[in-house]
Amino acid sequence: MSNIPKIIKKQRKYFNSHATRDVDFLRGRLNALRSELILQEQAIYEALENDFNKPPFETYLSEFGIVMSEIDLFLKKIKSWTKPKRVLPALLSFPTSDFIYKDPYGTVLIIAPWNYPFQLAIAPLIAAIAAGNTVVLKPSELTPNTSQLVHDMVSKIFAPEHAMVIQGGIPIATELLSQRWDYIFFTGSVPVGKIVAKAAAEHLTPVTLELGGKSPCIVDDTVPINLVAKRLVWGKFLNAGQTCIAPDYLIVHSKIKYDLIEALKKRIISVYGANPESSPDLAHIVNSKNLDRLKHYLEGETILHGGGSNAQSNFLEPTLIDEPELDSAVMSDEIFGPILPILAYDDIEDIKVIVNQYEKPLSFYIFSNNKSFRKQLLKFFSFGGGVINDTLIHFGNKKLPFGGVGHSGMGAYHGKHGFDTFIHKKGIVKKGNWLDIPIRYAPYKGKMPLLKRLFKLLS
Ligand code: NAD
Repeated sequence: MSNIPKIIKKQRKYFNSHATRDVDFLRGRLNALRSELILQEQAIYEALENDFNKPPFETYLSEFGIVMSEIDLFLKKIKSWTKPKRVLPALLSFPTSDFIYKDPYGTVLIIAPWNYPFQLAIAPLIAAIAAGNTVVLKPSELTPNTSQLVHDMVSKIFAPEHAMVIQGGIPIATELLSQRWDYIFFTGSVPVGKIVAKAAAEHLTPVTLELGGKSPCIVDDTVPINLVAKRLVWGKFLNAGQTCIAPDYLIVHSKIKYDLIEALKKRIISVYGANPESSPDLAHIVNSKNLDRLKHYLEGETILHGGGSNAQSNFLEPTLIDEPELDSAVMSDEIFGPILPILAYDDIEDIKVIVNQYEKPLSFYIFSNNKSFRKQLLKFFSFGGGVINDTLIHFGNKKLPFGGVGHSGMGAYHGKHGFDTFIHKKGIVKKGNWLDIPIRYAPYKGKMPLLKRLFKLLS
């Protein structure tokens, strides 16, 4: 018999004891977690290197550094964010004082994916804990070294009734999802997102779904091509393309397509060398199943660059492919690997046909110096978030909400947005007793004109 129901019961009891409403206590736990993170910095690099050859530089940039800046912000702001916030009263109810109280939801389930296995587990944990919840965190089974480290760190810092890590694959995730939670925060694929949403609906549990999809990158003919190539190669091949917000495919103006392809090839060679497998700066594919999936995408396609792989080390070269059909395998799924399909366009209608073929993307990238072209694209398409003239960097601004829309997800987090995700905002009105305006009380006869005037004046 699994002890998951027991764990949840214990966490619920602990939550109901109101221990997690004590902000000084929470700051103490977050500070302890911060110290532990610093202590384990090297171990974190090693775990990710062992899991999929992730270069330590990329681990700092996209995992450790992000988590540290997130925890520092929460430590600085937790007191002010937790306080009830006074808002302007409604004059129609005069005299009142009005407040928003910040109520943690209770016992939260966080399910994390493998591609940024440290950051995508710990960042939501920090937000959920800071907001005053208890947490059960299930990291990915595909990155066992990182998941074990996350487990060890959390169990060292938190009592199990406050936060605990439960490791496992689909059977454990399924069992966790069959329980009643007060909030579920899921990061992962669209199909599993649907499973999570269904399970949550059973108990009317609110959810955040951080999902994926095909994020397009549009390049027009007004841009400096070498700079575009530099920023694209960085954003596409970071983490070997296993990034939810990686540019999935390129739509480039036909006038500069050839030049951009040449610049991309040059740039790939200049950063990863003629033999990219020996580059210390390129991650590998997480496992053989994903490598096979990616190799299958290349079948029958026109390969402009790369395409080579090594099954022994789960390696795939940075690969460019030319004009795949919109219903080909590579254009039907989120690629999630170092393959960049390149499609040409002549006018904005071509772009609409391509992008609208797919669900609303998580990210959208535009390289253009043409303001009205950018404006048209931003207005026309619905997507999670995006960048003009670069890739990925919207993820790094904690002031921006990060999340998807439609099939790329619901809800958002990062910084204060993360804190807000894990609280219920309780609106409270405190009425003064020193005055009691009588108009709202029956009998109503003869009061309508005054009521209408007051509504016009005061609401
Ligand atoms: P995944 O959906 O396969 O797995 C994510 C988590 O769900 C894992 O912990 C896994 O154990 C669990 N899981 C898998 N199958 C399950 C099932 N049938 N029932 C219940 N739980 C299940 O995703 P992944 O392969 O780990 O990650 C890649 C996907 O995640 C990509 O689609 C990517 O775009 C997306 N992603 C999104 C974000 C974001 O912030 N929006 C970030 C990273 C990854």
